Amino acid sequence: MNNFNFHELAKKHGFKEKNVKTILNKSKKNRGVFLGDYSLNPYLGCSFDCKYCYINGSKYAGSTKSFYIKFNALNILKNQLKRKSKIGERGIILFGSATDPYIDIEKELFLTRDLLKIANRFRFPIHLVTKSDLVLRDIDLFKKINKNGLLPKDIEKLDSKVIITFSFSTLDEKVAKIFEPNAPNINRRLKAIKKLKDEEFLVGVSLMPLLPFISDSYESIDKIISIFSDIEVDYVFGGSLTLFGERDNDSKTKYYKILNENFPKFVEPTKNIFKEKEYPNISYQNNIYKNLENVCRKYNIKNSII
Ligand code: SF4
Repeated sequence: MNNFNFHELAKKHGFKEKNVKTILNKSKKNRGVFLGDYSLNPYLGCSFDCKYCYINGSKYAGSTKSFYIKFNALNILKNQLKRKSKIGERGIILFGSATDPYIDIEKELFLTRDLLKIANRFRFPIHLVTKSDLVLRDIDLFKKINKNGLLPKDIEKLDSKVIITFSFSTLDEKVAKIFEPNAPNINRRLKAIKKLKDEEFLVGVSLMPLLPFISDSYESIDKIISIFSDIEVDYVFGGSLTLFGERDNDSKTKYYKILNENFPKFVEPTKNIFKEKEYPNISYQNNIYKNLENVCRKYNIKNSII
C-alpha cells in the first residue's frame, strides 16, 4: 500500500499515525498463559469497545478510544527480526495483548497481514488473540508460518507454529452485545473456530474475563465449555474481571454504568467481591480457576495451550 492510501485510510477511520522505536515488546514473565516471548500491537486503541477492557484505566496503556496506527511498524519489525535471526534468537510473537489485531480498519489497511508476512519471512511462530472472524482472511499465511516457523527450544513439543485464541466473556448473544457492542457476534466467532479447526490449526479459547454473576458460575462455565467441546477446540483457559480507574472511559466506571443499566441487582454483589480493589478477592479468583479446571477435565479439554 502506498503512503497516500495509508494516510487516507487512517483519516477515514479516525486514526492518528505515530512512528515507534520498537514494535516488539519482550514479555517480562517467563511464558505466561499466552506463551508469547514478545507482544506486538499494530494499533493503539480498539474499535470493539468492550466495556470491561483492562486497557482503559490500567497502567498498561492509555485508552481504547485513542486510535493510532504504528506507521513505521513494517520497517521496524523487519529490522528487529533480522537482528534476532542473525544471533539465533527465536520466540513466539503474540499479536493482540493490548488491542485486537483484526479491528475494523484492518479490513482495508492489511497492516496485521503485512506484519504476519514479515514474521513468516524470518520464520517466527505467532499467537493471535482475537474476537474477529476476519482472522480467516489470513489462513493462507498461517499455513506458510506453520510450515516455515521455528519454535523456541523450550516449547518445541508444541508442534504448531500458529496458535489462534478466540476471546469470549459469554456465549449469550444478548449479553455479548451489551458488554462487547462492536465486536463480531458469538455465532461468527464460533463459525470461525470451526473453520480453523477444519484446517487443523491449533485453536483455543480465552474466557477472559468471565463476568461476575453473569457468566462465572460452575453451571455457566459448564454450558460454555460443553459448546467448545462440541466444536473440538484444543484448549480453554480463563480468568476473572479486573476493574481500573475512576475516569469516564476507565473500565471500572464503564463496567458499573453498564451493569447498573442492565443488571442492577449485580452491582452490589460485584462491589462486594472487589472491595474497592482492582482485582476481585482471592477466594473468588481461586474458585473461577478451580471451576475452569474441573469443567475442562470433565470434557477432556486442556486448560492451557501446552
Ligand atoms: S477486543 Fe480486546 S482489546 Fe479490544 S476492547 Fe475488547 S478486550 Fe479490549
